[in-house]
Amino acid sequence: MSQLWSPFVKNLVPYVPGEQPKMTRLVKLNTNENPYGPSPKAVAAMQAELTDDLRLYPDPNGDKLKQSVADYYGVKTSQVFVGNGSDEVLAHAFHGLFQHGKPLLFPDISYSFYPVYCGLYGIEAKQIPLDDEFQIDVDDLINGGENSGIIFPNPNAPTGRLLPLVAIEKLLQHNTQSVVLVDEAYVDFGGESAIALVNKYPNLLVTQTLSKSRSLAGMRVGLAVGHEDLIEALERVKNSFNSYPLDRVTLAGAAAAFDDREYFHETCNKVIASREQVAAGLAALGFDVLPSAANFVFARHPQKDAADIAAALREQGIIVRHFKTERIAQFLRITIGTDEQNQILLDALQSL
Ligand SMILES: *Cc1c(COP(=O)(O)O)cnc(C)c1O
Repeated sequence: MSQLWSPFVKNLVPYVPGEQPKMTRLVKLNTNENPYGPSPKAVAAMQAELTDDLRLYPDPNGDKLKQSVADYYGVKTSQVFVGNGSDEVLAHAFHGLFQHGKPLLFPDISYSFYPVYCGLYGIEAKQIPLDDEFQIDVDDLINGGENSGIIFPNPNAPTGRLLPLVAIEKLLQHNTQSVVLVDEAYVDFGGESAIALVNKYPNLLVTQTLSKSRSLAGMRVGLAVGHEDLIEALERVKNSFNSYPLDRVTLAGAAAAFDDREYFHETCNKVIASREQVAAGLAALGFDVLPSAANFVFARHPQKDAADIAAALREQGIIVRHFKTERIAQFLRITIGTDEQNQILLDALQSL
């Protein structure tokens, strides 16, 4: 540890992302990337940006991308915020909306970046246990006490379980004095977006990413939709940190990806169909598989140790995610791949 570090840095506990191995020919099912490429129209739009115009700064507001998002969801552009991946959008929300000197509530099993941001922004974390079926019980959040905000992924990660909009609406009716942030990284794989509720609940903020359903993880694009006042808070934080967040190439590709609805629906539907096949294949091998509305499944085998399975798969060049966390240490999170990759996985598990 360097003596030059501030005490603040010494105490940080950074997030550790899923491994991005440099080896090729792997069946990589560990970080929920899309098995299909981005929209060809998005790729073409990005290629068209590679001109002398790159000498110019990008649009600091990302207006064209905001317009594409606003058109898609039927909201005003002033209700849309865009950033470098939804992780950055979440960071601005923690900084700008959750620092009120009271705890932030989130499920005990959920996205592990939330506690990291609590550490970074000095926010007390209060974890609310999922029920025995690994579901979020909104009554437990409602009864969670005074808070600076509530955040959870829907569908939840890494469980894949979906909360219906009526449950989210019940939470919003009871929790009116702080922001409820619904992290919809996986909503396009079978959920219903809470963006439908933003005009009714001024304390609802919904974040999404283009990393999963729109297959642009390598470009880093995320967004938030909510009441104009919430969006303004995010803009104030962003413009105090970096006024040109998204680059020209990314802005063009992201807008084109949003505009190409046909390709988007086609690839999401393929992933959903494959997920049902993988879930059935795992169940046939004796796994308990939680119902998933995401592009991954969360499964455990009643007799085989999850860490052992993950290690044995790795020897065969198949990488899945295993969390050593309490309550879920016997589960594997398996990203849905191409049908060919999924078959390789199921065959390998069969032979184990
Ligand atoms: C993947 C993921 C994100 C972050 O996505 P970005 O690539 O940063 O846009 C946010 N929340 C959850 C729950 C995720 O799984």
